[in-house]
This record gives sequence, C-alpha cells and structure tokens, in this order.
Amino acid sequence: MGFGDQLLGSGLAKGAAARGRRIAFGNGIKIIWDQHSAEVFRGNPNIVAPGSECADRIDWIPFYKGHRLYNRQAGDRWVWNMDFHAIPGEMYFDDAERKAGARFGKGFVIIEPQSAPWKSVAANKDWGRAKFQAVADRLKAAGHKVAQFQSDKGSPVLAGVTALKTTSFRDAVAVLSHAAIYIGSEGGLHHAAAAVGIPAVVLFGGFIPPSVTGYTTHANLTGGAEACGSLKPCSHCRKAMEAISVEEVIEEARERL
Ligand SMILES: [Zn+2]
Repeated sequence: MGFGDQLLGSGLAKGAAARGRRIAFGNGIKIIWDQHSAEVFRGNPNIVAPGSECADRIDWIPFYKGHRLYNRQAGDRWVWNMDFHAIPGEMYFDDAERKAGARFGKGFVIIEPQSAPWKSVAANKDWGRAKFQAVADRLKAAGHKVAQFQSDKGSPVLAGVTALKTTSFRDAVAVLSHAAIYIGSEGGLHHAAAAVGIPAVVLFGGFIPPSVTGYTTHANLTGGAEACGSLKPCSHCRKAMEAISVEEVIEEARERL
C-alpha cells in the first residue's frame, strides 16, 4: 500500500494521547517511517516522529515497511494475519486544510476505478474500468454528482465524471470528508473514507480479506472468494472481480446514499 498503511497505523495509535502516551512505530530502538508517514501523521498527537526515540511515555508498535503486522510474504504471495482487524484511522487537519477541503462542496460520490497501477498486484485488485464507468453513469442518471480525484499518478478520469484536482493525499482526504460515499478499489482511499467517517463500497475481490484491511461500516465486496494473497496476476482473483456485478455495487451504494 502506501498511504493506506499510514492510515492503518493511525488507527493503531488512536487514543494514545488520551492515555498520556505516544506511539513510536519501529523496532524498539529506531522509529521507522517511510516516504508517506510524515504527510499522514502530521498534527497527530498520538504518534511520535523519528528522532524522539528517547522521549518519555512512548509505546512501541512494530508496524513499519517490511513489517506490517497484517501480512507476511511466503514466496509469491502474502499470507494474511487473520487476527489483524483494521481500526478506522485519523487525520488531523489544520484550519487552512479544512477550508480547502470544503472547496468542492459536499454530498458528491467519489469513485476511484484503479488501485495503485504501479504495483504487481494491480491486476488482482482491478474490477475493470468499464464497470466503474457503468456505475458512474447509473448514479449520474439517478441525479447524483459523481467525481474522481485527478492526480499525476492517478488513473484517467471516467467519462462524464467531475475531475477534482487535489494537491496532495492530505488535500484529497480533506475533500473526501465532504463526500457522501466512496466507491472504489481497496487502497489508500478506502482507508481514508473510514478515517473521515464516510460510507464506502469497496471492491475487494479475492486478494485481501475484508476482515483484515476492511471496515465493518463499509460494504466490502469479494465476489464470494477466499483471499489468496497472490502477488502475481491470478485467475482466481480475476474470477472474483468478475463475480461482482455493477448491479450489486449500485445496490450497496443506494443503501448508503
Ligand atoms: Zn487470487
């Protein structure tokens, strides 16, 4: 993942400051952050930054790149830790960020048709652009405003869908907090939807079990598959995605809109 991992971390750290503690993510000696940590953890009173290893009242959690607690690698697949259950994370915005996050209004549907295309597992997490387009078309016809974040790394915006230009992941999450629902892939934005408390329909398919990285407040669609964790393109994962219909996504969305 990337940003999603940081949001999972913020969920693990939740409530620490209220107990008079702060959470250090690392190996007990060194706090280990990656390139996305600072952006997601900024302003979070529960989490302590690298360089504060010797500060008082710190609790260590061994959650860092290469040691994510929810999985371990075995050959060319992930083995999921079924005892791990995602806790909705948190992001702490300052006044300027909150104000900027409101600039597109509220009540729109955010759709995200692609999950981190640069990752080897992308094919196993891909429901298919044509089906997302069909969902967008149906929701628009029903009178909903449908929008998609537009960024350099992101997928092209679906036809007829409003492009929301954002400047950073933080900015996107601040905007997302005003959405009515998130519909899309398992990834950073579904974790963000949980963090800002909006409903979601998440296309899990057969790669990751929803009981591990999903949230009980969301509709987590698997196509009836058991998660395989395959890091290589997998026919089981493709079939799982094929088993999830446009109609099913629309139904789940309607229940939450
Ligand atoms: Zn599979």
